[in-house]
Amino acid sequence: MAEAPAKKKVAIFGSTGSIGTQALDVIKTYSDLLEVEILTAQTQDELLVQQALEFQPNVVVIGDPKKYEKVKAALTQTDIKVFSGEAALEEVADFDTYDIMLAAIVGFAGLKPTLKAVSKGKMVALANKETLVVAGDIVMKTALENRAPIIPVDSEHSAIFQCLVGEARNPIEKVILTASGGPFLGKKPNFLVNVKRDHALQHPNWSMGAKITIDSATLMNKGLEMIEAKWLFNLRPDQIEVVIHPQSIIHSMVQFEDGSIKAQLGLPDMRLPIQYALCFPDRLKNDLPRINMKRFPALSFEEPDLKTFRNLALAMESLEKGGNATCILNAANEIAVWAFLKNRIGFLDITAVVEKTLEKITFIQHPTLQEYFDSDGEARNFAASIMKL
Ligand code: NAD
Ligand code: MG
Repeated sequence: MAEAPAKKKVAIFGSTGSIGTQALDVIKTYSDLLEVEILTAQTQDELLVQQALEFQPNVVVIGDPKKYEKVKAALTQTDIKVFSGEAALEEVADFDTYDIMLAAIVGFAGLKPTLKAVSKGKMVALANKETLVVAGDIVMKTALENRAPIIPVDSEHSAIFQCLVGEARNPIEKVILTASGGPFLGKKPNFLVNVKRDHALQHPNWSMGAKITIDSATLMNKGLEMIEAKWLFNLRPDQIEVVIHPQSIIHSMVQFEDGSIKAQLGLPDMRLPIQYALCFPDRLKNDLPRINMKRFPALSFEEPDLKTFRNLALAMESLEKGGNATCILNAANEIAVWAFLKNRIGFLDITAVVEKTLEKITFIQHPTLQEYFDSDGEARNFAASIMKL
């Protein structure tokens, strides 16, 4: 009898998050093809233990050292190795035992483990866009040098990636990133000034982690995605256009040099881009809901309101400027969103904090990795100080 092909061993960094848990759903669906090798989580020890008991990885990492004993005790009857602390993420990313990393940690914290994976030539399914926003040049160069394929998970970039299959000889004229516009589409500053966290957390089309949901409400998410697209697809800023498409059915488009545009469509469900990235280049059969086009008689498109949603304008300026500007933008935004989620600042203050931080922190045109880390730290400290955190 022919032996079954070896299963692909998946390391999920950030397994307890929105992307991480949906990835485990996908792995369950394709348990004949995929298996879990590593799971990591920052604070949610109980969910991590539950996932470990169900999926039987060889290794788990609990970021918060205070939770280590509890996780260790809960897994004592198993062979699962338990690690803890920030440095463990990089150590585990350095293991030879996995085939593909799903980078699903949120924020700057995802950079070091992801960089480690690409430096080892591992395939990376990339959800953690902040990795490319902070240090896209170094990450892409390292990936290229070590032949590490990066397959996007972010729905827009997955759409572009899918449109590019079979087009290796054909240059991109431009990409068109679609944005839902978030819960405050059409609103003006006089409304936004009073917005509270619970309202901002209600995204019309997607269910996601808290940080990206706020980024979607401020349109910073689309700015981060423009920067992500630049690095993933080697584009100039003028080749990246954003259009508001409130139905979130077209996930993004590519325009080629003959003027032809390819688009990828689907219902807003992250399990599809996750599945595509984990199983690339195969399209595997699934039971996810299908689009009924007759339910969407009108797909509409409009200009983003850059005067109201100034985060997107700031991200565009940073993209244009390059260097450490996008790293500073990201750090200030992470701290400001955190403060907004704690009800410490208002919705429009997020933009003010990002803008002031961009003005304050020294610009470096070609930063080293250490300079990116330093810029991130300085930007966080400055942003925290102006918010009096
Ligand atoms: P989330 O907040 O739901 O989950 C984040 C995960 O990262 C959790 O497992 C958490 O334990 C871990 N984590 C948090 N802080 C950490 C730290 N300091 N060190 C180590 N681990 C840490 O976030 P999410 O919505 O799943 O998003 C994850 C990433 O994917 C983000 O970069 C986001 O922009 C991107 N993304 C998410 C979606 C989505 O639908 N959720 C879509 C596109 C892209
Ligand atoms: Mg996206």
